Amino acid sequence: MSNRILLLGAPGAGKGTQSKRLAEAYDIEHITTGDALRANKDMETEHGTPREYMEAGDLVPDPVVNEIVDAALSDADGFVLDGYPRNLSQAEYLSEQTDLTAAIFLDVGEDELVRRLTGRRMDPETGDIYHTEFNMPDDEEVEERLVQRDDDTEEVVKDRLDTYYENTEPVIEHYRETGELVEVDGEAHPDEVFERISEIVDDA
Ligand code: ADP
Ligand code: ADP
Repeated sequence: MSNRILLLGAPGAGKGTQSKRLAEAYDIEHITTGDALRANKDMETEHGTPREYMEAGDLVPDPVVNEIVDAALSDADGFVLDGYPRNLSQAEYLSEQTDLTAAIFLDVGEDELVRRLTGRRMDPETGDIYHTEFNMPDDEEVEERLVQRDDDTEEVVKDRLDTYYENTEPVIEHYRETGELVEVDGEAHPDEVFERISEIVDDA
């Protein structure tokens, strides 16, 4: 049976960075609701468009997000799930859809999260994630095309972190209570974080 990894953590904790590596190393799908929503920002739903919520740092309504996850899970054998569930009702929905090999929490303090989010840059061509201080590309051509996400501004970051503490921390608490959660120091170097996650997955 393929690995089914849940990666939990605040915005900026390093979920996208680690998911990319895990997907490659374990030959599994990277399922990320954030990327899926960004690709469909202006999709009309009965709850409005994802854009309205994302630009305010709020959660996109559950029915919209659950449908994305449902479709992605039914196409995937193994996966690393990144950015979902973000509230308890999504966690309940997920438990009805699939079992998990491991639920891993990347623990990072708030000051570090703000530094990471406001300095984050994306390569629009490859989806690779960079940082103005911690991790810039060697290739000048890549550097020149990097973009900042609309919601990585200081103002929206604050709202996203509030949303996280209110809605998503209870999800982490839930997995802690069920005994499924394994915690990783997300402030370590990305290589070290990856090594630790791999050990957890290999032991699961
Ligand atoms: P998330 O998907 O959890 O929001 P990202 O993987 O996009 O997080 O990382 C957020 C920012 O922090 C990016 O700019 C990334 O380059 C940087 N980053 C990720 N992991 C680390 C780490 N272990 N140490 C320092 N910076 C990191
Ligand atoms: P980050 O990891 O940096 O928080 P994401 O790319 O995961 O960013 O998410 C960006 C935005 O997309 C969120 O702020 C939220 O508006 C929306 N979003 C992503 N995943 C979900 C989800 N599971 N439920 C509701 N909204 C979501």
